[in-house]
Formats: sequence, C-alpha cells, structure tokens
Amino acid sequence: MGAQQVRDGFEELYGAAPEGVWAAPGRVNLIGEHTDYNDGFVMPFALPHTAIAAVSRREDDVLRLHSADIDAGVVEVTALEPGSDTDWTAYPAGVVWALREAGHPVRGADIHLSSTVPSGAGLSSSAALEVVVALALNDLYELGLQRWQLARLCQRAENVYVGAPTGIMDQTASACCEEGHALFLDTRDLSQKQIPFDLTSEGLRLLVVDTQVKHAHSEGEYGKRRAGCEEGAAILGVTALRDVPYADLPEALSRIDDEEIRRLVKHVVTEDERVERVVTLMTTGADAREIGPVLVEGHASLRDDFRISCPELDLVVDSSLSAGALGARMTGGGFGGSAIVLAEESDVASITKTIEEAFATAGFTAPRVFEAVPAPGARRLA
Ligand code: ADP
Ligand code: MG
Repeated sequence: MGAQQVRDGFEELYGAAPEGVWAAPGRVNLIGEHTDYNDGFVMPFALPHTAIAAVSRREDDVLRLHSADIDAGVVEVTALEPGSDTDWTAYPAGVVWALREAGHPVRGADIHLSSTVPSGAGLSSSAALEVVVALALNDLYELGLQRWQLARLCQRAENVYVGAPTGIMDQTASACCEEGHALFLDTRDLSQKQIPFDLTSEGLRLLVVDTQVKHAHSEGEYGKRRAGCEEGAAILGVTALRDVPYADLPEALSRIDDEEIRRLVKHVVTEDERVERVVTLMTTGADAREIGPVLVEGHASLRDDFRISCPELDLVVDSSLSAGALGARMTGGGFGGSAIVLAEESDVASITKTIEEAFATAGFTAPRVFEAVPAPGARRLA
C-alpha cells in the first residue's frame, strides 16, 4: 500500500485528511546477532518494505488506532498501562506511553497504518510500526527528538509496554539507516557509522529467504539467552559481554564452569569480532565476496553455540551453499524467521531453485525469496 492509499484510508475512516503521512522500514541484519543486548556491535540495513502511517493529533488524550492489515476495526485506547494490551495496538500505544512517560507533551492521535514488512519474519515489522508512530508524533508535536532518541523510546515501548525483551538494533535500524548503506552501530553508546554497501556494482546480490516459520520473541527462549549472557558477564566481572576482548576469550571461557553459559559467551564475543571483520572488509576496498565466509561462521555459531537456529534456517544455509552461494546465515532473533544469502548475480536463479526444491523435499512450507538492497530509513512522505 502506498502513501496515497494510506492517506485515503485515513480520510475514509476518520472523516478528515491526516496532518501527514510517514514511513519506517523493516530491516535485515547483515552481521551481529544477539549482540545488541550485550552492548556489542550490529550491522543492519533498511529494507524497501515499510510501515506507512497517516496521523493526526487530537485535542483529547484518546488514541484511535487502525491497521489496514488487521481485521479488527478502529481500536480506541484511553488508558495506557504497560502489559495491559496483548494485541498489535500495544506497539503504537506503547510508543505514546513511552513518550509521555519521558515527559513529552503528547496528547491523543488518530492513526491509520499499513505495512509491507512481513510480520514475524525476523525483519522487524514491530520496530517499523513503533518508529513510524514515533517519528510522526515527533514531527506533529514538534518534540525535536533525534533519531537515536526515538529509537530508545521505541525500544522502551517494546520492552516495557509490549513486554518483549529486545535490544536496540531493530528500532535504531528503522530510524537511522540510509539508502545504499549498512549501519555499523555500537549498541553501547549508539554511535554509528554509515558504511557504503553496494553489492550490485560488484555483480553480487543479497537474498532474503523468509522461511515462513513464525518466531515468537517474547516467549521464553530469547529471554533465557539474554539472562544467560548477563550471567556470563557477571561471572567474568564485566558490565557486558562486549567488554570481553576477543584475544582473551580462551582465558575467559576457562573461568566459566557452566557449559551452557560458556557457549553463549563464546557466540557473543566471536560475533562482535565478526562484525568488526566485516566492517574492515567493507571499508578497506576488499572484495565483498570475502564477507561470505564470515556469514557462514556466524551461522555456525548461532546454530551450535547460541542454539537459536531451526531446521528450515539450516536448510537455507546448507542448500544455498551447496548451490554455490558465497555465504549465508540466519538473521534476526532466530527460531524461524529469515536467512540471508550472498551470491553472484548469475547464480541467483539456480540458488533460489535449489532452496525451493530442498524445502519441497523436506516437506516444509515454501519459503519467500527476495533480493534486498539497502533502502532509506524512516521519513516523512507527505
Ligand atoms: P517481527 O518484528 O520480527 O516482524 P514481532 O513479533 O516482533 O516480529 O512483531 C510482529 C507483531 O507486530 C505482530 O504480531 C503484530 O502485532 C505487529 N504488526 C506487524 N505488522 C503489523 C501490521 N501491518 N498491522 C498491525 N500490526 C502489525
Ligand atoms: Mg520485532
């Protein structure tokens, strides 16, 4: 759905034109998985898939929320209470709650939105929803907040209001990414570097393969990994696992008795190093093909040490590599969702076919495959 359609939909629903229309993208993470709640490094880029929202202010404190993609009509929210809402409306309502709680003078709003970001596919449809609402309210109420501040508030909305213990990557990616670039983000201080990322000119493509297996973030496994990482940091006497230098990893691991925690620590510390390696490759004029093996290493670490992959994600990686892909790994929180595949342009068709055939043979639901190029971050459309 485009900006005009969302604008028209708003007018039809609420009987007046919206004050404006905004967009915020989903993201795919190139490398740096489960590092964002360990104060570590990530490198996402924005997808062309976006959540688009038409928004007007109200003179009372009521929120009227409508999604063109959900058959639930207009939902009216009058009281904002963390944990009170288990529906999709918790995402936009949570943003309003977080803004108000931080002392920003945000009153009611009428919101109509639609999103092309696949939901539950590990491509951050939730962050797109939060960021589009945050940006709209920031503009309309002239709050003057910067992008990283909006991302923090959106994270708070998701952590506290929705109750999903996610890190800061998704919201920052949606708010801060730039077209043609990957975002090298230090999740400790949110310092960022836009890294030019143009695979096309090198004859390469990045495929996103949505396995159609729905992950469930807020459920136990994500929280367990997060708690395990915190325990690892406590055993090692550091603020966060980011503070364990890669060179000290063997010594650090020798101080942890619990096998489970040792594996989590190993993944996080090596994953930060992989992000730094990819940044070095991308900023020193290296052949982008050299990123491939780093992606494969990252997948093995997520599968064997962090243990958040699933048979469908492993099959994307294994089948694409067997068909000549340069690299592949699961992306996003895990337990389903999407994988990425780095390939020569000339191999895209045969790799896609191989993945699809492998899924059919295994009896899995057919995956959705598309090519991703770095798109713009959140913006006002009208
Ligand atoms: P992901 O962010 O990986 O897509 P999440 O579980 O974090 O997965 O977020 C998915 C949730 O976001 C959905 O269950 C729904 O509540 C909400 N959502 C996503 N897209 C839309 C949409 N177009 N309209 C309404 N709610 C949406
Ligand atoms: Mg999400």
